[in-house]
Amino acid sequence: MSRTLRVRQSQTVLPFGVGAVFDIQGESFVAAGIGDWPTKGKQRIESPRLASRLGVSGFYAAPATTNDRFDIPDAPGAPYIRFPTWLFCGACRRMKRWRIADEKPGQPPRCPSCSPARTLAPMRFVQICQDGHLGDVDWWYWAHSRRDANERRQCGEREKLRFLVSERASSLEALSVACTAKGCGAARDLLDILGTHGMRCSGRNPWQRASEAVECTRPVQIVQRTAGNLYYPITHSALDIPETDVPAYADDALAARVREHELWVSLCRVAGTPRASVFQTMIQEDTGADDSLVEALLAEETGQAPTASAGTPTGSARPDLSREEWAAFTAPAPPATRDFALRESTLGLAGETADPWASLGRRFGRVVLADRLREVRALSGFTRVSPDATVVPVDTARRLKWLPAVEVFGEGIFLTLNKAELTAWEGDKDVRKRVDGMRADLDRSFQRERLESLTGPELAPRFVLLHTLAHLLIRQLSFESGYTTASLRERIYARPEQDQYGILVYTAAGDAEGTLGGLVRQGEPPRLAETLLRMTEAAAWCSADPLCAEHTGQGFDNLNRAACHACALLPETSCETGNTLLDRALVVGGGHVPGYLESIVTASRVAAIGALEQA
Ligand SMILES: [Zn+2]
Ligand SMILES: [Zn+2]
Ligand SMILES: [Zn+2]
Ligand SMILES: [Zn+2]
Ligand SMILES: [Zn+2]
Repeated sequence: MSRTLRVRQSQTVLPFGVGAVFDIQGESFVAAGIGDWPTKGKQRIESPRLASRLGVSGFYAAPATTNDRFDIPDAPGAPYIRFPTWLFCGACRRMKRWRIADEKPGQPPRCPSCSPARTLAPMRFVQICQDGHLGDVDWWYWAHSRRDANERRQCGEREKLRFLVSERASSLEALSVACTAKGCGAARDLLDILGTHGMRCSGRNPWQRASEAVECTRPVQIVQRTAGNLYYPITHSALDIPETDVPAYADDALAARVREHELWVSLCRVAGTPRASVFQTMIQEDTGADDSLVEALLAEETGQAPTASAGTPTGSARPDLSREEWAAFTAPAPPATRDFALRESTLGLAGETADPWASLGRRFGRVVLADRLREVRALSGFTRVSPDATVVPVDTARRLKWLPAVEVFGEGIFLTLNKAELTAWEGDKDVRKRVDGMRADLDRSFQRERLESLTGPELAPRFVLLHTLAHLLIRQLSFESGYTTASLRERIYARPEQDQYGILVYTAAGDAEGTLGGLVRQGEPPRLAETLLRMTEAAAWCSADPLCAEHTGQGFDNLNRAACHACALLPETSCETGNTLLDRALVVGGGHVPGYLESIVTASRVAAIGALEQA
């Protein structure tokens, strides 16, 4: 019986993008680099804004195809190859190194020794290194690793191995790899296999030819092929905002400081030469301006297009794409095109004088509903072992100037805070002190560079506030509307230097049909105000309290405060920061810090008691 394995086009960036290892129907594969993509049938994905920011020529999606490319040479579709290549038979326990010549189209790998032939299973362990390489574990070496070099040389067979399982022991101790070469009998169990064992790195990824391998001296780590540190994709996402006369920068005062800097004229004179970066760095250090602002000002001054942060994106930092999006959402007349249709709405609380509604109305600003939005998600590379390890680009040969991408369509709710209320709250010394503590943890985190590309150069209270609000709102919306939390996503607009103070909660499904308007309906009055109120009430309590509320550092690198799985965390795909920089206390108060929405919690309790007394 022939089987069909299929990866949907929308999955070719995430979760099954270049370098990812994944299981389908008991078989395991790795997604190959874009150098192996078919030359024909790729679908061009337009996103000039993202392309210019990333310094690439454009984007392509894998050809949509009903065929898979797992075992059919030259078939269309994104290429995946079998990995690990070491397989074993669950019946006779023989291990087999599977080669491309062994593949039979439409068939899973079968045991050559058993009758009837059993399907072979992939070995559970693989090896990775800090430079992003991935390879099979050298199982022959492992089986003989307790022998000395002399004894090892006695064994003439490299591939006569069995993967044994003992019924007497449990866990990894029960598993062992044994050599069945004549007169050898070497074996070792897998008890302490995870970790570093002085094995050599292959210096490449499985889709790269042996000639492309580099001399790699990094220690290799043996991990399960499903381990979280096997693959950290570097993705970028841009909303398809229409070309408008959006100002290139939002903060005029900051722009003026840059232009008045004593090195500004020198920078303009040498723009485009290697010396420019020296001046640019000094100006940015003195003024606090970021790359994109200085580049926008330079482009304006010199009449040349921004240099897009130099060349192909190889770092793990993401360029800031928030400025134009924020400008579009806050424009006096929000734009409406075929792929990006906005309309202004309200919470429906104008003229409301009774609390908690009046308080709620005061705390929030603008509501904009996106009836349709288009998002382009691109993959520039990945790391292994840790997020700040060496980046492997999607084209391992570093020749191609395009990136793999997908486009998705959806809808969203954009919401801002009341700027005056926010400014007053951010000025509170307890608020500042609490966020100073988080900033200190962020400075120590190896995720700092990546997170700063979202928070801006300095973590502000509004970022943690808005980010936590986005999580709470997604959880509440999912509770009330039937959307799963995993189908909703956030975008945080909270850079103080760009005068941002809003969030977008959106859903984007795979295809051009978009979604059905259900999320936007949740954003219409009076529903959104009711949702926000219930969200605030719910956020005041977590089932892990008082532990959660009093936490001084939980989650990844201790970057969260009062925020845990029970109250504020989201599925990985929904969150821009990897579930970090969250704190309910900044929303609802507690821990000696005034929450931005604390008065609503209080007012709604008073109102509830009032209603009880009247009853
Ligand atoms: Zn067998
Ligand atoms: Zn042997
Ligand atoms: Zn390596
Ligand atoms: Zn909690
Ligand atoms: Zn998040």
